[in-house]
Amino acid sequence: MQTKQDLINYWQKDCIITDKKLLKAFSAVDREKFILPGYLSEAYGDYPLPISAGQTISQPTTVMLMIQALELKKTDKVLEIGAGSGYNAAIISKLCKKVYSIEIVEELAEFARKNLKNAGIKNVEVIHADGSLGYENEAPYDKCIITAACPEIPEPIIEQVKIDGIILAPVGIGYQKMIKARKTKTGLDRENLGEFAFVPLKGKSGF
Ligand code: SAH
Repeated sequence: MQTKQDLINYWQKDCIITDKKLLKAFSAVDREKFILPGYLSEAYGDYPLPISAGQTISQPTTVMLMIQALELKKTDKVLEIGAGSGYNAAIISKLCKKVYSIEIVEELAEFARKNLKNAGIKNVEVIHADGSLGYENEAPYDKCIITAACPEIPEPIIEQVKIDGIILAPVGIGYQKMIKARKTKTGLDRENLGEFAFVPLKGKSGF
């Protein structure tokens, strides 16, 4: 059975994740608390696992690569689209001030809230809403991470992120390009971090 430490060793050995603070945040969160009881023995397998409503908790390496690309600061206010299990938000919460995590499936919003509470995490608020519209109430954000495949980075999210802020989004149909976009005064500076596979974003600016 693969353990938390096995994953850390693999990331360090292959220089996939080198940020010490991020590795510490990963260590501090038990993935067991965010998965269904039937999968406990696979908590640290490096692959996605089913949660409910046909959705998945992302693969640990994907979660870590995305969070690393967010360049989080202790003072950051972060918007996450797709709370799912709450696991991604839990790790992010250790590296920033506050996370607003939006989930369109009510049952999953409740699942994420319950898991975060059980993990003792207090600086994540889970909101049941269509995150393809962002979350106007708490804007502007320093960073935004979208954890579902989108046709394009939704316009409301671009508006709700500060200048110099970062948006991370898997964009495309089938396989997605992981786009790291930095907002400038005139638009977005985009970088492609490689190919990934995500469940589709629903809602107004989704598929
Ligand atoms: N970050 C999650 C995994 C996300 S899977 C984790 O750590 O477990 C993608 C999630 O996005 C699913 O839970 C899905 O229901 C949600 N989703 C899809 N479209 C959405 C939308 N428009 N707004 C908010 N959540 C959405």
